[in-house]
Amino acid sequence: MATSEELHKRRVEAVARGVGSTIPAYVDRAGGGTITDVDGREWIDFAAGIAVTNVGNSAPRVVEAVRAQVERFTHTCFMVAPYESYVAVCEQLNALTPGGFEKRSALFNSGAEAVENAVKIARHATGRPAVVVFDHAYHGRTNLTMALTAKNMPYKHRFGPFAGEVYRVPMSYPLRDGGLDGATAAARSIEMIEKQVGAENVAALLIEPIQGEGGFVVPAEGFLPALREWATAAGVVFVADEIQTGFCRTGDWFACAYEGVEPDLITLAKGIAGGLPLAAVTGRAELMDAVHVGGLGGTYGGNPIACAAALAAMETMRELDLAAAARRIGAVMGERLRAIAAGDPRVAEVRGRGAMLAVEIVVPGTLTPDPAATAAISAACHAAGLLTLTCGTYGNVLRFLPPLVISDDELGRGLDILEAAFG
Ligand SMILES: *Cc1c(COP(=O)(O)O)cnc(C)c1O
Repeated sequence: MATSEELHKRRVEAVARGVGSTIPAYVDRAGGGTITDVDGREWIDFAAGIAVTNVGNSAPRVVEAVRAQVERFTHTCFMVAPYESYVAVCEQLNALTPGGFEKRSALFNSGAEAVENAVKIARHATGRPAVVVFDHAYHGRTNLTMALTAKNMPYKHRFGPFAGEVYRVPMSYPLRDGGLDGATAAARSIEMIEKQVGAENVAALLIEPIQGEGGFVVPAEGFLPALREWATAAGVVFVADEIQTGFCRTGDWFACAYEGVEPDLITLAKGIAGGLPLAAVTGRAELMDAVHVGGLGGTYGGNPIACAAALAAMETMRELDLAAAARRIGAVMGERLRAIAAGDPRVAEVRGRGAMLAVEIVVPGTLTPDPAATAAISAACHAAGLLTLTCGTYGNVLRFLPPLVISDDELGRGLDILEAAFG
C-alpha cells in the first residue's frame, strides 16, 4: 500500500489546491473512536468527519443496510421511479423533529442544498424576498449559502458577487456581547430587522441553534424562544439549521428541543446517514406543500443507498440511545475541559452542549482572540494522535465532536492528549 507521504505527493499533482485537509495522513480504516492511516498510525477521533459519523464509521447496521440496498438497486431517481426508503426516511424525520404539527420532508444531497431549498420553500410560501441570518453563521459554500455565511476567509473570499436579499443581524454571544440576556439580545436583533428590512419583507429567519463553524456559540437562554415568538407574530418562517447540531449530537435528537423551540422548517444533513451523503428539509405541511409539483428535487436527492443508511443510522441512535451517550460524553469532556480552563488563562470559555463542546482561546487577561495559540494546541494534538478541529470567526476555537459511540477508554485517552497539548 502507498504511504501517506506518497499519497500526499500524488494529491498535490492531482487534487485542486483549494480543497484542504486537517491532517496530511491518508485513511486506511476508521471505526469506533479511531482513525488509522495507511502507515498504521492511529488518531483518536474528536472530529467525526465534522459531526457526521455520530453512529461511528462503518456502523454495523449501516453497513448491512447499504450492502443489501446496493444489491437490490443503486439509483432510479425518486422523481422518475420512487421507492419506499425515501418515504420511510421522511416519515421518521416528520416524527422525530420538534413540533407536534403535521409535517412533510424533502431529501437532498448536502447541507448547503437543504438550506437553499428551505429558502426556496419559505420564499415561495410567503411571497416575500428577504432572508435574515446572524453574525458568525455558517450555512454552506454554494452561491446562496455563501451569502448566508458570515465569514470571508476561507469561505467567500473572491467568490462573489453573492445572492441578494440576505440581511445579517447580531447573534447572542454571551462571551463577546457583555453577557446580554437572551431577551435583550433578541430585541436588539429584531429592532434591526424591523428598521433595516421591514418584517413584512422577510420570508425566513435562519439560525443555527448552536453555531457550528462560527465557533460553537451558544446563545443566551431565551434568545431562540424570543426570535421564535417574533417570527410567529410577523408571519416569518423560522428555519433552524440543525445540520451540525442534529441527530443526538447535543444530547437531544435536535438542539431546538432544549428550549422547547419548534421551528417551521428544519434543515438536516451531516449526522443523518452514518456518513453517506443525504440532507433534508422537514417542516410544516402547509409550507412544504405550498410548492407546485416538480418545484423541488434533484437527480440524486434521497438516493436509495443513502436512505437505507439513514434508516439504519436512526435505528442505531434509538437502539444505543445515542442522545444519552452524547450527554454522558459531554459530562466527562466538560469536566476535563473546565479543569484545563481553570489552570490555563488562555481559555476564555468552555461552552457547548452534549458531545458538541469547545474552548475559546484568547490572549490571557483580555478577550483578544489568539488564533496562533489555537493552531499550536491543535497541531500538538494532531502530532500526539488526537484529531481535533478548530473553528470560529477569529479561528480561536478548538471544537470537540467525537463519534457518539466512542469508548470511555478512547475518550479518556483523547482528553489526556488534549490536556498535555495545553502543556
Ligand atoms: C456543514 C454545515 C452546512 C453545510 O453542509 P454541507 O453538507 O457541507 O453542504 C450548513 N449548515 C451548517 C450549520 C453546517 O454545519
